[in-house]
Amino acid sequence: MNFDLTEEQRLWKDTVHDFVAKEVKPKAQEVAEKGEFNWEATRKMGPLGLLGLNVPEEFGGTGIDAISAAIAIEELGRGCGSTALSIAAHNGLGCAPIANFGSDELKQRFLPDVASGKGQLTALALTEPDAGSDLKGGVTTRAELDGDEWLINGAKMWTTNASIADFIVTLVRTDPDGGSNALSLVVVPTDSEGLSIGPPEKKMGLMGSPTHAVTYENVCVPKNNLVGEEGKGLQYTLATLDGGRIGIGALSVGLAQAALDAAVGYAQERETFGQPISNYQAIQWMLADAETEINAARLMVYNAAYQKELGRPFAKAAAMAKLFATEMAERVCRNAIQIYGGYGYSREFPVESIYRDARLMTIGEGTSEVQRMVISRHLLQEN
Ligand SMILES: Cc1cc2nc3c(=O)[nH]c(=O)nc-3n(C[C@H](O)[C@H](O)[C@H](O)COP(=O)(O)OP(=O)(O)OC[C@H]3O[C@@H](n4cnc5c(N)ncnc54)[C@H](O)[C@@H]3O)c2cc1C
Repeated sequence: MNFDLTEEQRLWKDTVHDFVAKEVKPKAQEVAEKGEFNWEATRKMGPLGLLGLNVPEEFGGTGIDAISAAIAIEELGRGCGSTALSIAAHNGLGCAPIANFGSDELKQRFLPDVASGKGQLTALALTEPDAGSDLKGGVTTRAELDGDEWLINGAKMWTTNASIADFIVTLVRTDPDGGSNALSLVVVPTDSEGLSIGPPEKKMGLMGSPTHAVTYENVCVPKNNLVGEEGKGLQYTLATLDGGRIGIGALSVGLAQAALDAAVGYAQERETFGQPISNYQAIQWMLADAETEINAARLMVYNAAYQKELGRPFAKAAAMAKLFATEMAERVCRNAIQIYGGYGYSREFPVESIYRDARLMTIGEGTSEVQRMVISRHLLQEN
């Protein structure tokens, strides 16, 4: 693989970087403290193309390549973890299954508004109170055909963007007898009667990215809100998560880069024993390790995106990129706090909240343990 970005990709990176520096990063602290989603910046993302990263141009999207999509999420993560998570979930979880598996009629009905920024965002509800890693066995939210409509009953947990979304793509059980064809994906508009969105969850970090429990009580949606074919929900979900993992890997690279940028600046300013702490080898080694690991993770993310772009199988590359980048981000953010000393533990300085934001990344869209299961399964099948 050629690791140089193309001229177009470099230009895109600069454009997103400048936008984030102006509209997203300055609000990051406020967003985290107030727990308010940054709608002001998000409204400006539509025209820039940041809300249609996985949507073809004919349905209102950007139609950009997978590496450029990863670059956008990394740059957003460098500015604000909360905003980046909501935008990553919107693109990679809410829009992607419709764009990749939906009929043209479904795409036309649901994608143009949300991809262009005319509407709100989107969400994907997989996790339930008793089902996260084990979706196949655990999902109990039920959809039954009732004439020309799906009748949906059940409960979901941890749905990113539910309160700021036009619709929630929902994983439902359509065949109660089980088996791998028992699940389906259905698009549920958030103004549907019987749909209730709980209050924002009180989280450790990412406070500006709303996460909610969602309940479905006799919710009716048209039969043709089904994504793709009935019974293929699990396959569509796993494929969607493969793509989403590239996004979470990219977001983690952005968080780590932001922590390192701050730590480098601080190490050069802070003096002890009559000299900047950047003169000490103990500090230099932490910085050197961070720089090395960030670059390694970025290349793994680009590689997974490149395989996806070429239409090759990329599940293992995406799982490896997600596993390494998310665990790397935690190490880098931990050491950034160490370099800041006592100030690193203060909410007045950015590294504290970046560390809390980074903590989610080894959990959401498949835990590190699940990534290791995916990687080892592929490895053992290959040999
Ligand atoms: C802030 C936030 C945002 C989220 N956004 C969304 C969203 O938008 N949509 C959505 O559907 N979900 C979302 N989630 C849910 C998230 O994807 C799940 O929490 C995650 O997949 C893990 O599921 P679980 O919490 O049920 O943990 P469990 O599956 O109960 O796992 C608990 C522990 O057991 C381990 N474990 C489980 N099975 C195995 C095994 N076979 N071998 C070894 N270890 C195992 C896990 O790795 C973990 O350490 C979000 C969660 C959070 C916190």
